Amino acid sequence: MQSLRFDNSFVRSLPADPATDNRRRQVYEACYSRVLPTAVAHPKMLAYSREMAQTLGLDDDFMASREAAEVLAGNRLVAGMDPYAACYGGHQFGHWAGQLGDGRAITLGEVLTDDDQRWELQLKGAGPTPYSRTADGRAVVRSSVREFLCSEAMHHLGVPTTRALSLVGSGEKIIRDMFYDGNPRPEPGAVVCRVAPSFLRLGNFEIFTARRDLETLRQLAEYALRTHFPELGEPSPEVYVEWLAEICRRTAQMVCHWQRVGFVHGVMNTDNLSILGLTIDYGPYGWLDVYDPDWTPNTTDAEGRRYRYAYQPQIAHWNLARFAEAIHPLVGESAPLEDALASFGNTFNDAYGNMMLSKLGLESWHEGDDSLILDLQKTLTVVETDMTLFYRLLADLPTDAVDAAEVDDGSVVAPLAEAYYDIDAHSTEARRTIADWIRRYLQRVQLSGTPDTIRRQAMRRVNPKYVPRNYLAQLAIDKAEEGDGSLVDELLQVMRHPYDEQPQFETYAAKRPEWARHRAGCSMLSCSS
Ligand code: AMP
Ligand code: MG
Repeated sequence: MQSLRFDNSFVRSLPADPATDNRRRQVYEACYSRVLPTAVAHPKMLAYSREMAQTLGLDDDFMASREAAEVLAGNRLVAGMDPYAACYGGHQFGHWAGQLGDGRAITLGEVLTDDDQRWELQLKGAGPTPYSRTADGRAVVRSSVREFLCSEAMHHLGVPTTRALSLVGSGEKIIRDMFYDGNPRPEPGAVVCRVAPSFLRLGNFEIFTARRDLETLRQLAEYALRTHFPELGEPSPEVYVEWLAEICRRTAQMVCHWQRVGFVHGVMNTDNLSILGLTIDYGPYGWLDVYDPDWTPNTTDAEGRRYRYAYQPQIAHWNLARFAEAIHPLVGESAPLEDALASFGNTFNDAYGNMMLSKLGLESWHEGDDSLILDLQKTLTVVETDMTLFYRLLADLPTDAVDAAEVDDGSVVAPLAEAYYDIDAHSTEARRTIADWIRRYLQRVQLSGTPDTIRRQAMRRVNPKYVPRNYLAQLAIDKAEEGDGSLVDELLQVMRHPYDEQPQFETYAAKRPEWARHRAGCSMLSCSS
């Protein structure tokens, strides 16, 4: 790690909290507090991302070394690091929550690679900071496996995301009440080293506007523009407006990818939305097994379902409106900001339509495609349908499958049998609805004239075969809690090629087994982590 070239632009450019201890406090007129990680008892490397290590120039020998486990647990610093926790606020579940900040994340520093890419290395679970409020600054193996695995899987799925370098077991137990129901128990702890060009969130800006600290707001905005959006030009009111539009476009693209792969973030507060349009803060997220637009994995949100799958685009837009308000003082007028905000809807609608078309293997729009897509979304909810398997099986369906007039509904649906959770229980009516949609779809494919092999290839490129299903992550967690990271490794291996057929890993493409339907971690998650 001595070879890493640190260039700590954030701490160098922005005002610091004068205090450097981890006493909990409100921090004013500062973007961050310098704070050191608290060492853990027995750091042990459970898994690491080969790709991320390579990007940073760290080889396998190093990643397997004692030094790597110690540095990536926060037990040892390397020359050039200048650790800090960032100050931010946020709207949580629709309400302004005041100061939040990195309560258990500590940035070690920013690395510049040979091709001048900037990578912030941040430990999550590295101990208390001034922003820890009433919590302990730690993270459990459970949530750390989930963050590590999912961020790398999302990268391979082509979804903009923060990355993860390593997962280190701490050898310590921490107390968590997983479902906030008065049953606290000790759980093994871990530290994830996550990596991104920046972990700046919408909330980093909101806090200064909320406190009427426009000077610090301006400094942070200038820094963010110059460092992460240099192509937009030097800061000015016009450039801030264009900046908002760019963040809206990126966020729209990101959420469109989430909808494509069936990812539900679970806690889209403004402090959990990146200004770079990256998926950030993997907490009580989940993957749709059964396609259900109203599903949220987050039990804390079970009542209002604010962060349910189908609502993610609207919530992203709501969050961006809060960001627009936050940068209003830098622009001085509302109208241009409102116009910029509209680029979210424009980008999303275009991207979403094209994405849905591509999921169906259709190359260009044709009359009736809108209703074909809408009716598909209804059809998917008629009976419990596995979203991932459905699209893969649809890709395999030959165009002439229903040509003969006498092909009955059961035979039309049969090739998709694997996608259904209980096909024997389907009513005649349900079977009819599904079969009718398939007939319409195949007619539309015939009209397009695309050969089946070409359509299958195209569909396989946008419809993943493998996603890190909730129950798979849970199986990996069960082992990792015993100190065995082998299943985390194996799932990472599978997720390197999520769109490819991998016959040796067929079991990992299976739909959620019945035992996982109601098991904690597989279908319901809380924010406790
Ligand atoms: P979240 O919505 O889970 O991303 O976190 C909301 C806020 O709670 C952030 O400021 C986190 O840093 C903080 N937080 C969550 N868990 C802990 C913890 N175990 N210790 C300290 N702060 C935490
Ligand atoms: Mg967060």
